[in-house]
Amino acid sequence: MDIKIKENLKKIFGFSQFRGNQELIVDNILKGNNTFVIMPTGAGKSLCYQLPAVTIGGTAIVISPLIALMKNQVDQLNAFGINAHFLNSTLSKSESNRVKKEVLSGDTKLLYVAPESLTKEENMEFLKTAQLSFVAIDEAHCISEWGHDFRPEYRKIKQIIGQIGENLPIIALTATATPKVQQDIQRNLNMEEADLFKSSFNRTNLFYEVRPKVKTDTKKQLIKYVKHHKGKSGIIYCLSRKKVEEIAELLRVNGINAAPYHAGLDSAVRIKNQDDFLNEELDVVVATIAFGMGIDKPDVRYVIHYDVPKSLEGYYQETGRAGRDGLEGHCLMFYKYDDILKLEKFNKDKPVNERENAKVLLQEMAAYAESSVCRRKVLLHYFGESLKDDCGYCDNCKKKREEFPGKDDILIAIEA
Ligand code: ADP
Ligand code: MG
Repeated sequence: MDIKIKENLKKIFGFSQFRGNQELIVDNILKGNNTFVIMPTGAGKSLCYQLPAVTIGGTAIVISPLIALMKNQVDQLNAFGINAHFLNSTLSKSESNRVKKEVLSGDTKLLYVAPESLTKEENMEFLKTAQLSFVAIDEAHCISEWGHDFRPEYRKIKQIIGQIGENLPIIALTATATPKVQQDIQRNLNMEEADLFKSSFNRTNLFYEVRPKVKTDTKKQLIKYVKHHKGKSGIIYCLSRKKVEEIAELLRVNGINAAPYHAGLDSAVRIKNQDDFLNEELDVVVATIAFGMGIDKPDVRYVIHYDVPKSLEGYYQETGRAGRDGLEGHCLMFYKYDDILKLEKFNKDKPVNERENAKVLLQEMAAYAESSVCRRKVLLHYFGESLKDDCGYCDNCKKKREEFPGKDDILIAIEA
C-alpha cells in the first residue's frame, strides 16, 4: 500500500492501524474499482471511503439516508481538518448555494447528499459540472425491500449516477448481510461485477438467550433482571409506543433508573433521554426500534427484546448494540408465538408482495426463537456464514452442556 495512505490514516484520522478489511477496501477504491462492502455496524465502514476521498483529487459524493447524522459526520470531518459539506433539506437556498460554490472551487473532498436531494433537477445539474472522484452509497440496504429500512428514493440512485458521471466508481456499504439483500443491491446498482469485501458477522462476546414469554411472570423476570444489573447500561426493545411507556413506568415505580424513547415523544424529551443514556445518567432506555441508529455507546451490557422483532436482521442489528467494547453483552428475548401472529395481523393492509415478504421474515424469526440448536449457528447461517462447531456461548449450547455434564470430563480423561 501507498505510504501516503498509512500516513493519512495516522495524520488525519489519528488511527495507527487499519481494522479488518479496511486496508484492502481502501486500496481497491483507490484503483477506481466498483466496491461492495459488507461489514457489521461499528466496524468502521466510514473510513473505507473517507480515507480514499481525502487522498485523491475531486469530490467524493456520499449518499446517506440519515439527515440527522449528516451534520455530525461533516462536523467530525471538519474537526479533522477535512473540507467536507452536506446538501439536504435542512439547508436554506442560500446555504446550499454556498455549499455548491465551495464544491465547484475544487477543495471539497467529501459531499454528503441525502437521496431526496440527489434526485432534484437543480442538484443533478450542479453535480454534472463538479469534478467528482467516486460515489459512496452508505446504508446501501435501503435499496432493498428485503432490508430493514427500505427507501424508495434509493432505487433511483443508479440512474442518477449514470447521468452525473458515466464512469464514476461506486462504493456500496452496508451492515446488512443476508444474501437476499446483497443480491438485490448488486442487481439494482448494476454492480454484480463489483469486488466484494464481506467481514464475519460473528459477535463472539454476545450471549444469546430466548425465554418463553408468560404474562405476569415475564414482567417480574424483567424487573429482577434489570435490578440485578443495576448501574449497567441496557436497552429494552418493545414493539409499540404504548408498551414502551408502560414498561418504562413499570421499571421506574420499581426504583429503576429508566426512561422511554419512541418517535411519538416530543423531540426535546427524546434527545434528553438519549443524551442521559449516553452520559450514564440513565441506566435503561425502553424503546421502539426508533432508538439506536447511529448510537455508538460502547458499554451497553444487555439488550432485551420484550417483544419479538420483525426479522432476524432487525434482531441482529438491535442486539448488536450490546458489547461494542468487546466485553460481555447479553441478548435476551422474551418470546411467544402469539406475538408473531399479532405482527402478521399488522401486515394485513400492506400490498400483497410486501405482506408476503414480511411473513417470510417473521417465520424466519419464529424458527430462530423456537430452535433448540446453537443460536449463533442459526444467526450466522441466516447471513450466509457457517460456523463449524457449536458456539458454547448461548442458551441452547449451555443447556446441552448441562444435560450431558460428563462429556467434557471424559474428553479430558482421554486426552490426558
Ligand atoms: P460503521 O459505519 O461500520 O458502523 P463507523 O465508520 O461509524 O462504523 O466507525 C465506528 C467507530 O470505529 C468510529 O468511532 C471510528 O472512529 C472507529 N474506527 C474506524 N476505523 C478505525 C481504525 N482503523 N482504528 C480505530 N478506530 C477506528
Ligand atoms: Mg456507518
